Amino acid sequence: MPRKKATRGNCVYCGKEYTRWGMTRHLQTCAVRASTFETDAKRPGRAQEICHLLVEDAWYSNYWLHLEISGRATLDELDEYLRVIWLDCCSHLSQFLINEIYYEREPEEEWSIGETKSTNAQIGSVLRPGTIAEYEYDLGTTTELKISAQTVRSGKWSGKPIRLMARNHPPETRCMVCGQQAEWICSECLWEGEDCFLCVHHLDKHEHDDEMTLPVVNSPRIGMCAYDGPAEPPY
Ligand SMILES: [Zn+2]
Ligand SMILES: [Zn+2]
Ligand SMILES: [Zn+2]
Ligand SMILES: [Zn+2]
Repeated sequence: MPRKKATRGNCVYCGKEYTRWGMTRHLQTCAVRASTFETDAKRPGRAQEICHLLVEDAWYSNYWLHLEISGRATLDELDEYLRVIWLDCCSHLSQFLINEIYYEREPEEEWSIGETKSTNAQIGSVLRPGTIAEYEYDLGTTTELKISAQTVRSGKWSGKPIRLMARNHPPETRCMVCGQQAEWICSECLWEGEDCFLCVHHLDKHEHDDEMTLPVVNSPRIGMCAYDGPAEPPY
């Protein structure tokens, strides 16, 4: 589903709108974000490493998340977060590939094609600035993501291990028949590499079985397996 226009999203701190790369730069200089570091610094406890991650669809960069994650959080916690916000349809297996090592929930050396470790590895020990991790959800109908570690800062952290700093607005989806706003996607057309979106009106008249249609969602798993949207927030 290649689309021309880069999607934009809002900074959760100041509300300004950028593309994914613009957002990478913006988050480094956002004054509102910086003021939260000062508030955090007054909290009790010791400072720790905190990583900025850019997570995006490996093939179409329309879908992206800027996350901040505690360096002490595990790959397992990142996996869980990606499942609730973006991916989970039927609890498929998933894996990370980082510096030629696979990370899985239940690593099984016997079956693996390379070195395999457990996803209980801590973020701070596997994702350094500049590291690019590959991530796959569902090894059958696979959704592939690219996770790029941006920067590491030192700060105090409390609460959940991951914070969302920005995500893309939904890309434009137009009905393949009439060009109106589409709310449905036909996964059969998607597999055939064709135009695949349908409005409510043309959904009924579409040639493929309606079991093949899924709602349009703001996720790289759009139109795949049985994915029909995220878990209820907050994450
Ligand atoms: Zn901002
Ligand atoms: Zn599924
Ligand atoms: Zn239509
Ligand atoms: Zn179709």
